Amino acid sequence: MQYSWPLIGHQNVRNYFTKAFSAGRIHHAYLFQGPSQVGKDTFARMLVNTLLCKDEQVRPCGKCQGCQAFARGAHPDVLTLVRGEDASIGVEKAREFIASISLKPLLGAWRIGMIEGAAQLTKEAASALLKTLEEPPLRVVLFLVSAVELLPTITSRCQRIRFGFVPAQDIAEYLAANSAAFTGTGYREVAQLAAGRPGRAIELTQPAAYETRMRELTEVDGLLDQSEAARIVFAVARFGGKGDLAEKREACLEFIEVLQYALRKRLRLDKGFVSLLKNTFKAEAYLQANVDPKLVMECLLFS
Ligand SMILES: [Zn+2]
Repeated sequence: MQYSWPLIGHQNVRNYFTKAFSAGRIHHAYLFQGPSQVGKDTFARMLVNTLLCKDEQVRPCGKCQGCQAFARGAHPDVLTLVRGEDASIGVEKAREFIASISLKPLLGAWRIGMIEGAAQLTKEAASALLKTLEEPPLRVVLFLVSAVELLPTITSRCQRIRFGFVPAQDIAEYLAANSAAFTGTGYREVAQLAAGRPGRAIELTQPAAYETRMRELTEVDGLLDQSEAARIVFAVARFGGKGDLAEKREACLEFIEVLQYALRKRLRLDKGFVSLLKNTFKAEAYLQANVDPKLVMECLLFS
């Protein structure tokens, strides 16, 4: 059996799954952990597709009934548990998911559940899931994806797969080799700017997104020369006020990404920015754990 997983980077992870799947070793629950936009969700979806595919030579084949249903987002054996419009993934949704995942497979060999943004499970929802993780129904595979640490009770019941940042070289090479799929050029620069995140790099191949990112970079870089007071004023103006909390969190995370890039550039000349760079990683963790975005950004920019 051959596996077709066109993932950018993460060769070690792909090797692991090639060996495991070839040997028929399929764990009942995987936890994919690592920074955002590095390919965790993408690879989880590729594996889900692989498990649903019925081809005898290459999986996923993209042609069989299982692959086509999956591509349309209409495979009856694939269930997703996501936050959606809610602030978190509540216990009601989790219970529905568990009931549904426990049914027999309809089309293929597996019943597959995906929990993206697993850190957004409420405590109650997480406890409701524990039994399913502990004693999973036959023919069930779960993929949990998270950018941050989860409760040890969850982590210990899953096969944990860690995803790191992807070298810029790998990203640039992939973009160049698949250039027909992308509109922009200057892949080396785009790969640098994406700072190890292939998902971001693909977004930045769009000229409009690239220009926006460059503008933000100039703004953030200028902010580093300003006083703490001026930075706080900026944080309040940019991240304060009313609005959807989830959207705000996303905006803060993107801002931090740009800030990290600016800091890394500065660090080559001035080691004084080390602590601020370290704090950006803490800030990311706080944001992922649902701490108020404005508070996180104030603390970050005041440090
Ligand atoms: Zn197929």
